Amino acid sequence: MIEYRNLRVALLGGGSVGAQVARLLLEQRDELAGRVGASLELVGIAVRDVNAERTVDLPKELFTTDAESLILGADVVIELMGGIEPARSYILLAINSGADVVTANKALLAEHGAELFAAADQVGAQLNYEAAVAAAIPILRPLRESLAGDRIVRILGIVNGTTNYILDRMDQAGDSLEDALASATALGYAEADPTADIGGYDAAQKAAILASLAFHTTVPLSSVYREGITSVTPAQIESARKAGYVVKLLAICERFTDEHGVDGVSARVYPAMVPRSHPLAAVHEANNAVFVEAEAAGSLMFYGAGAGGVETASAVLGDLVSLARRHVAGGPGVAASSHADLPVFDIGSVTTRYAVTLEVTDEPGVLAEVASVFSTHHVSLALVEQSITPAVAKTVSRPAVSATATLVIGTHDATEAALAATVRDLAANRFVTTIASVLRVEGV
Ligand code: NAP
Repeated sequence: MIEYRNLRVALLGGGSVGAQVARLLLEQRDELAGRVGASLELVGIAVRDVNAERTVDLPKELFTTDAESLILGADVVIELMGGIEPARSYILLAINSGADVVTANKALLAEHGAELFAAADQVGAQLNYEAAVAAAIPILRPLRESLAGDRIVRILGIVNGTTNYILDRMDQAGDSLEDALASATALGYAEADPTADIGGYDAAQKAAILASLAFHTTVPLSSVYREGITSVTPAQIESARKAGYVVKLLAICERFTDEHGVDGVSARVYPAMVPRSHPLAAVHEANNAVFVEAEAAGSLMFYGAGAGGVETASAVLGDLVSLARRHVAGGPGVAASSHADLPVFDIGSVTTRYAVTLEVTDEPGVLAEVASVFSTHHVSLALVEQSITPAVAKTVSRPAVSATATLVIGTHDATEAALAATVRDLAANRFVTTIASVLRVEGV
């Protein structure tokens, strides 16, 4: 029988993820000890209410409300409470008292990552957070280690399962957004307050984490451009479908040279049309996927469950084994690098393609005038499709008009600033009655 040295593991949080981590740590103790070369002893689980009902049967004596004492007696602290405080203070306490840390807390890392990484770096502690983005899918370690010798140019991620489920229902079953959200809530994919998901806030936190890691640059959450899915309509989904596209909420991290020759990065979240032939179009239900484009490696896709207690616990335990091995071997932790320190562009500098749907009056010269609005702002057209709706004019101010037309316009690459100016002018144009839809097109 091998005698292993003991590593004391403190768990902060015994909810959906924490309870599964505790269960697996206890059930797989011998196997994990063999893999690590040290015994991982779960010394306690800090919670708010020690008497609360738990979904997993765990020894009662492990539970405590005294998180600080638990942290001070631990070699490794796993933070699975969520939220900003007291999670931030507890992680700092753990780092400063000599422990290594694992967390799955994307909200905390997106807001305070730089502070926590600097604290860990200063004392040579490890801070691992694989579960913070796309839960069970190994994506952060591949970015930090496997691709550390490559240059990542773009990441397109479906990193929020709730919104992917909703958009997938709208696409596959023709649901309205409200019906799809109700079904996501019934299945437990959406929280009682779904704002963080459907507003794109959760995806923006993950975009900040991905971009920081991929581009060796601190990308603050405040610099991530964000649009949620609340304005996506069944008509947009249908028209995307007819054109061979599917609408997905994407977290996009990109490195590019802007029109002034400056090398920088962008992180943004918005719903976008993706060609049905793109691997991300095949990501259904609440699954997540991260599509990475790197200069030497080419295109890589990471796919799987982006949430769930036990799935997330897998990533947490992976982080734990990795840092426990280092703990046994000695030496400082692998620090997150932000040496590149590239500027973070604002959304106006981003270049992409767009699909713009306009309702216009059906009169001679409309097409030429609409095209001239695009060309004034140097947005070149890739495709124009027109369909006539035989209807009487809707407004008293245009009594002579007997029909309206729908124009679907696809553009070539243009900057967001140019497209925004184009849309502003279109809104004021005498022939344009409605700007029915403006969607970005990604992955082409
Ligand atoms: P959860 O089910 O709400 O559990 C939170 C746990 O933390 C509970 O046990 C709670 O205690 C404890 N807690 C909260 N505030 C506390 C405080 N001030 N002091 C002591 N204990 C406190 O959360 P979860 O779903 O497991 O998520 C945990 C973390 O993992 C979050 O950062 C989340 O973003 C991340 N994550 C979750 C998933 C997922 O699928 N669930 C996926 C990826 C990442 P009580 O039980 O006594 O209330």
